[in-house]
Amino acid sequence: MYNILLGSDNKQSLRMLRHLAAVLSLFGFTLISIFFYYNGLYSVELSTLNAVLIFFWSGVLCFTAILRSGFNKRFSDPSLTKPQILWSTLFLLSIAYMLNDWRGLVLISYFAMLSFGFFKLRFREFLSVGLFVILGYVLVILYIFVYEPERINIKLELIQLLVFTGTVFIMLYTGSAINRLRERSKKQYADLQAALEVNKRLATTDELTGLYNRRYFMEKLAQQKALSERNNSDFVIFYCDLDHFKNINDTFGHHTGDIVLQKFSEILKSSIREIDYAARFGGEEFVGLLVDTDLENAKKVTERIRSSLDAFNFNDIAPSLHSTVSIGMANFKEFNTIQETLMSADNRMYHAKNTGRNKVVYSDEGDTEIRRLI
Ligand code: GH3
Ligand code: MG
Ligand code: MG
Repeated sequence: MYNILLGSDNKQSLRMLRHLAAVLSLFGFTLISIFFYYNGLYSVELSTLNAVLIFFWSGVLCFTAILRSGFNKRFSDPSLTKPQILWSTLFLLSIAYMLNDWRGLVLISYFAMLSFGFFKLRFREFLSVGLFVILGYVLVILYIFVYEPERINIKLELIQLLVFTGTVFIMLYTGSAINRLRERSKKQYADLQAALEVNKRLATTDELTGLYNRRYFMEKLAQQKALSERNNSDFVIFYCDLDHFKNINDTFGHHTGDIVLQKFSEILKSSIREIDYAARFGGEEFVGLLVDTDLENAKKVTERIRSSLDAFNFNDIAPSLHSTVSIGMANFKEFNTIQETLMSADNRMYHAKNTGRNKVVYSDEGDTEIRRLI
């Protein structure tokens, strides 16, 4: 029921909800208009009142149809606030014309109508809507004054109009203040969201390389442990440390060192799958988590990482620059705790360092994936 009336589009249903609130208040106003008639407050026949009510309600239902069909999206303000307020204003002014002594009541009910514009209209629009009703009312009383003077107490009308105009301007001021507040909080909310996004990124990633940071990686490891224990799968952690990196910094400068770190991160990222994780652990040390992978497959991945860096051509940065990496890896099933698996991968990486660097070690015996000729 809710969906049939409001539609499933969030913005549209908000517009429709506002429209329905306006329809409800117009309905209340219509009932009051009929009540006026039965209390003899009009100078017109029932048929004229009926014609006016039918005319204006047809317009109101047109708005309902436009909003419900989505046709309103073609307009610059799809909520159609201004035309709806203007239409309701004409409705109220017609009732004002038909009333005799109680015409001022229409002015009071007009405040309810203006309140719908409170949250939507800008200062200028609000001003034009306010001026429209004041001008409309002036025309109505002028017309009556000229053509049906017996129906009007012009002094009383002018006083009422004066008070009304003053009140409209006060509303105008408070309305625009509310609008400004709304705009400001909207902007603040957007800024906050952007800051939150940056914060989230900073909290999980390493700024230089764009890889995950240590904290996030450790979180993922803990999750992976729980997952592996539940579905009895294995995973591999590998530890990378760039070889003689200090020399690179000393020879080519810190900035070039940074570029090497970035290039290696790219190699790392492109060598693993979407479901795996790679992080910068600090300095020139990196770690990887290969999800749902056994040691055999992990060997292929880590060897690809090692050989890619070894073969990487840094010619456009510094012709004689060459960088290599030592990698140690361990699978979770071998140790069953994160700490020990990590430590073992780290130890094996050191083993690779101590036995010549630029290699992948996957066992405590120092077995390497590829026996290279150095
Ligand atoms: P090994 O082969 O034994 O690992 O030797 P190494 O020189 O790579 O190891 P060491 O730990 O002696 O040096 C690591 C160097 O990495 C020292 C430090 O200045 C450098 N480093 C750490 N973080 C960064 C960084 O963010 N950018 C750059 N350019 N250098 C960094
Ligand atoms: Mg190191
Ligand atoms: Mg190093």
